[in-house]
Amino acid sequence: MSGGDKIDFEIRPNPAPVSATDRAALLANPGFGRVFTDHMVTIRYADGKGWYDARVEARAPIPMDPASAVLHYAQEIFEGMKAYRAADGGVTMFRPYANAARFNTSAARMAMPALPEQTFVDSLHRLIEIDREWIPDGADGGSLYLRPFMFASEVFLGVRPANEYLYSVIASPVGAYFSGGVKPVTVWVSPDYTRAAPGGTGAAKCGGNYAASLAAQAEALEHGCDQVVFLDAVERRFVDELGGMNVFFVYDDGSIATPPLTGTILPGITRESVLTLASAAGHRVEERPVTFDDWRADAASGRLREVFACGTAAVITPIGQVRFPDGEFTVAGGEPGTVTMALRQQLVDLQRGKAADPHNWVHRVF
Ligand SMILES: *Cc1c(COP(=O)(O)O)cnc(C)c1O
Repeated sequence: MSGGDKIDFEIRPNPAPVSATDRAALLANPGFGRVFTDHMVTIRYADGKGWYDARVEARAPIPMDPASAVLHYAQEIFEGMKAYRAADGGVTMFRPYANAARFNTSAARMAMPALPEQTFVDSLHRLIEIDREWIPDGADGGSLYLRPFMFASEVFLGVRPANEYLYSVIASPVGAYFSGGVKPVTVWVSPDYTRAAPGGTGAAKCGGNYAASLAAQAEALEHGCDQVVFLDAVERRFVDELGGMNVFFVYDDGSIATPPLTGTILPGITRESVLTLASAAGHRVEERPVTFDDWRADAASGRLREVFACGTAAVITPIGQVRFPDGEFTVAGGEPGTVTMALRQQLVDLQRGKAADPHNWVHRVF
């Protein structure tokens, strides 16, 4: 199969799905990434053959040879997105073709094959359809988190791009990120670790980036912080992003800034959506470098009014407190800012089909 050809999925329903009673119990308090649905998608790839054996089947362990390339050289990428129970009872996704395009950008950087965008989106549809009973009721902010991923499955220890890959999608019902109201987070500015260097893999959504961020995240926790903020790898002056979220600054003149996409920052779909929404709301929006020194000085002078992080999992998270080896400071008195919360509400309403959708971002599954 090549290019834009439509791929047919063989549907093999799980012969022993979780009972309705057990499912209801699991959905009552799913947390994040602990509960999984009854099915998964798998599609195989081999050089010379292309994508084949597309299936929706019972979620199960993936047998793996110990010499599978991914276990040694980390050729692996993923995506993260959500299916929402809409206000009218239907099911929606948010900009899934943007995830499909980014998946292929990540694949290219990791020397992996491209998956046709339509196959990516179709794979999500098939999984959502068969596991639709697992989508949490939207009333309390829950959703079905979808995790498409691909890895090198070839059994070979030579160092080169693998000849065989497995693409898969699993789904996990998740609760509201903030139960009991949005609370600003405290961030740790890491003096020791960087996330991505120019020419590296910072713009690819690959597992390796996350592996490299864990020591920094552990350091953040040791200092009583929730998340780590990475500075640029060259000068250690410019703010890049958090471990898995992009960052925005809101100033007293209503302008909004976020670091530019120079290859060391993951191009977040939430980031891009926030830029569009903020601009439409009349804010002057700038993609420009922001130094940590300016962050601190502008917070002290009051010019900087709000700082927030954004990504699919938490949508928008206010940053209230900033810690670094020599001290700490507060932004917006440690409270969620009004611009931050307005943008958050706008995005959430859009995603749930409760607001007008002038950009055609909301994708109906059914
Ligand atoms: C996924 C991710 C983001 C957020 O991207 P969204 O498309 O908004 O979910 C930000 N930074 C990193 C490092 C990421 O992996």
